[in-house]
Amino acid sequence: MSLRTLDDLGEIEGHRVFVRVDFNVPLEGGAVADDARILASLPTITELLDRGATLVLASHLGRPKGKVNGALTTHGPAERLRELLGRPVTWVAHPVPDTLPPDPLVMLDNLRFDPGEEANDPAFAGRLAELADAYVDDAFGAAHRAHASVSALPELMLASGRSAVAGRLLQREVEVLGELLRDPARPYVAILGGAKVSDKLAVIDALIDRVDALLIGGAMANTLIAADGGEVGESLVERDRFDDVRATLAKAKNKGVLIEVPQDAVAAAEISLDAPRQTVPAAAIPRGLKALDIGPRTVEDYARILADAKTILWNGPMGVFELASFSAGTRGVAEAVGASNAFSVVGGGDSLAAIAQAGLEGSFDHLSTGGGASLEYLEGRALPGITILEG
Ligand code: ADP
Ligand code: MG
Repeated sequence: MSLRTLDDLGEIEGHRVFVRVDFNVPLEGGAVADDARILASLPTITELLDRGATLVLASHLGRPKGKVNGALTTHGPAERLRELLGRPVTWVAHPVPDTLPPDPLVMLDNLRFDPGEEANDPAFAGRLAELADAYVDDAFGAAHRAHASVSALPELMLASGRSAVAGRLLQREVEVLGELLRDPARPYVAILGGAKVSDKLAVIDALIDRVDALLIGGAMANTLIAADGGEVGESLVERDRFDDVRATLAKAKNKGVLIEVPQDAVAAAEISLDAPRQTVPAAAIPRGLKALDIGPRTVEDYARILADAKTILWNGPMGVFELASFSAGTRGVAEAVGASNAFSVVGGGDSLAAIAQAGLEGSFDHLSTGGGASLEYLEGRALPGITILEG
């Protein structure tokens, strides 16, 4: 199965191409607060414009649940795109019009203002299909959702003899993450952190079939440590997942996969910038304290393992990185990734924010734009937005 790309689009000069982008970006007062996803879509947009196509761009933004929500229009992202490209972008308010202005670059309003988007409604997809001669999907972050703009729409385009292909961003994601599924250079080490083990059990399970070592941090480490009989004080723990976690640890042991949990933790009584901190054994957190970051010894242990890795995958911060006092573990691990010669990939909204905050984007070979989509892809699942573009 291979992915159809812009190379398979044929002659598009003078044609209108529908481009599903992922402009699901954080806003502040309607303006774009972080434009990484818009920047990531520029190669596809400029290539299509250079080839003489006119474009209609569309994205979802947040969760308006099928209703118009003034705080979630795509006007701000369209404005940012105009600044980045240095050319006009015609923004069209909801609802999707029957005919578009003849401008070279048109951007629709938030697709999720229409209930048909999340319902994968063929009637809504049909209205989108009316607008274009060809379809390009560059929204990796939405590829795991069977929604109209990434599923029913490309189906309709193909059924009517029009092209439906992946843009350059989606193509690169599939190439990089696909290689991690197929034949990663070894040792292959995954670093997993974040808040909840329940969000990530499926990916941990799938990774155990592929990696040589798993390094665990973040609040999910507490659940692993507590399931194994450790004392985690007031730390965030998911007690209802102990059985799942024990089964996962047993599977890892069977397969000879090394699972490392933190030896030490930075703990405090509350999640606040100036709460007094203590470095304590991660399996003996004093009563009344919560583990909020991995400790310096753990960073050293993980750095030693990462130094020998040939492939590294990272998802989920090692601690409450949003507060400077609990960000050292995440930063230390990011620096260790940068110091290794491994091919390194990081995904996840908060993970990317943590790396940007530390100014360590350059430490990674690939920053995946998909949060949930990257994880589902790495679980080896078929993503609806990708399968439709294969063959
Ligand atoms: P990503 O978005 O990269 O997939 P997650 O959403 O799974 O990451 O987790 C990120 C969140 O986990 C952050 O908000 C961070 O503050 C939180 N977190 C990490 N470690 C801890 C901890 N020890 N206790 C509480 N929250 C934590
Ligand atoms: Mg997150």
